[in-house]
Amino acid sequence: MASIKEKTRGQLIIISGTTCAGKGTIINKLLENNQNLELSISYTSRPMRTGDKEGVDYYFISQEEFEKKIKENYFLEYAKVRYGNYFGTPKKELEEKLASGHDVILEIDVQGAQTVKKMFPETILIFILAPSMEEVKRRIKARGLENNEQIIDRFKTAYREINEINKYNYVVVNDIVEEAVKKVESILISEKCRVDRIEEIFVENQEEILHEFLMGKEFDNSITPIDK
Ligand code: 5GP
Repeated sequence: MASIKEKTRGQLIIISGTTCAGKGTIINKLLENNQNLELSISYTSRPMRTGDKEGVDYYFISQEEFEKKIKENYFLEYAKVRYGNYFGTPKKELEEKLASGHDVILEIDVQGAQTVKKMFPETILIFILAPSMEEVKRRIKARGLENNEQIIDRFKTAYREINEINKYNYVVVNDIVEEAVKKVESILISEKCRVDRIEEIFVENQEEILHEFLMGKEFDNSITPIDK
């Protein structure tokens, strides 16, 4: 028998993706299915949109409050993502979650992903792609939330981010949600089995096992030395 002791510190997972790729849906299903998984809630200075929930989607604060927190070194990373709006990952909460053994998902953009990867090289970077830009168009229309200028901006950002996929470890196309979730879960399981995630491996004492094996009757009777 052999057993393994994994590192107790949780794993950090970044999920980025093109606009309307369905990151949110995938993340919600991952959280539902995996009790040890937690989502880091970012802070933002962008205005709340219909359907946004305080403390669930983001912590919504003013630009002034955000800049105050920057000065206080409150964020692990932050970026101006769209229309000069700030988005940032709170450092202390994330550190506490990881230290308590929880795996944590950050849903952040490409530039944030690079900053975090530099600080925590073992971070797993996953990029979610919509099955086609045609499908993205359909999903944006279905949401019906934004004006033309904002839609154009989303498209530009999407194309720019797709060019950065090579900075990620994994890419998952979200055509059928259940399949995409399965793929992300498989990635997370595989990552848990990486040798560098293992702190110790336990196997029984080699001499004892060998001795028992060599003393066994069947073994003695059946052995034929190779050089005869
Ligand atoms: P929205 O919520 O306005 O649709 O999209 C916000 C964008 O900002 C997404 O691309 C999302 O990944 C990114 N984002 C959200 N939170 C953070 C964060 O804490 N840091 C960074 N760098 N990007 C973030």
